[in-house]
This record gives sequence, structure tokens and C-alpha cells, in this order.
Amino acid sequence: DEVRELLAARIHDVPDYPKPGVTFKDITPLLADPEAFSALTDVLAALVARHGATKVVGLEARGFILAAPAAVRAGVGFVPVRKAGKLPGATLSQTYDLEYGSAEIEIHAEDLGAGDRVLVIDDVLATGGTADASVQLIRRAGAEVAGVAMLLELSFLDGRSRVERALEGAPLDAL
Ligand code: 5GP
Repeated sequence: DEVRELLAARIHDVPDYPKPGVTFKDITPLLADPEAFSALTDVLAALVARHGATKVVGLEARGFILAAPAAVRAGVGFVPVRKAGKLPGATLSQTYDLEYGSAEIEIHAEDLGAGDRVLVIDDVLATGGTADASVQLIRRAGAEVAGVAMLLELSFLDGRSRVERALEGAPLDAL
């Protein structure tokens, strides 16, 4: 709980960003504080171990920043889920709906396979669309989803129910 308070104190509310009426959760003060960033990395690495994950998938872009050190600390590999068109190798791709329009994410198929158990890490759970699509992508790559871990969730958007549906019983942790 001490860690939770430290993390919460380092996440700043930015009103009317990126557009009027939206309050953006800015995690950069947390990243700039070595004590808070290290504590977060410890918590995420502990989740990797608790869920028996063999790989960590980070979601572009802020998910990369949290997931990569957690993977290293836990002693497992890191695999990026990227926005379409950024990965050079053979990819699997998944399209999902946004409030206006749609988005597409990709993963290198060869980076995951049968026998892998994957913990998905991102910074913020909003509508849950990105996490839901990532879960589908990981399964299509032949791997098992061990869970999803988020630094924080915007509970008023209820992304949780969408992600829990996708997870089919695997855990969703929001710190
Ligand atoms: P979703 O697909 O759940 O609607 O959107 C989640 C994605 O949007 C995450 O990758 C997250 O980084 C980003 N996002 C949405 N709202 C915020 C916010 O207030 N702060 C930050 N840092 N990221 C956000």
C-alpha cells in the first residue's frame, strides 16, 4: 500500500488533454523518479512470477517503458505489440474499433509460440480495446495468455469487463 501511494502520487492529472473534457493521466513523473519506477518494476516482475509467465508483451508505446524492465527483472523475454507497419518480419495483425474509426496492431509471429505463457503489460486501461486485441493476437500466435497487468484503470470507462471477457478467467491486475 505504501508503494501504491507512491505510484499514485507520481501520476499527474492533466485536464483537457489531448482534448477538452478529457483528463489525461501523465505517468512521466513516475518514470522520472527512480524509487517509484523501480518499485513499479518490482511489482510487475512479481506478477510475472506469480502468474508463471514465460514472456512479457508490452503495448506501444508507454507499455514498452513499463514492460521491458519488468521482463528483465523477472528473467523472461520481452515482445512488443506495435502499431501496424512498424515490424519488419512476418506479422500477425488485429484490427479493433476506436471511438471514431479503427486501429490495427501487430506482433512478430516468430517471437511467441506454443508453450509460452504471456503477461500483457500497459500503462492505462481505458476502453480495453487495445488489451482485448492484444489478447487475441497472442492466442493467434499460439501462446497462452497468463494475464493482463495495468498500472492504472479508468474505471468509469469499464474497460475491465471487456478485457475480462477476453481473458476467459485469466487475471486482470490494475495496480
Ligand atoms: P484503450 O484501448 O483501453 O481504450 O486505450 C488504452 C491505450 O490508450 C493505452 O495504450 C494507453 O496508453 C492509452 N491511454 C488512454 N488514456 C490514457 C491516459 O489518460 N493516460 C495515458 N498515459 N495513456 C492513456
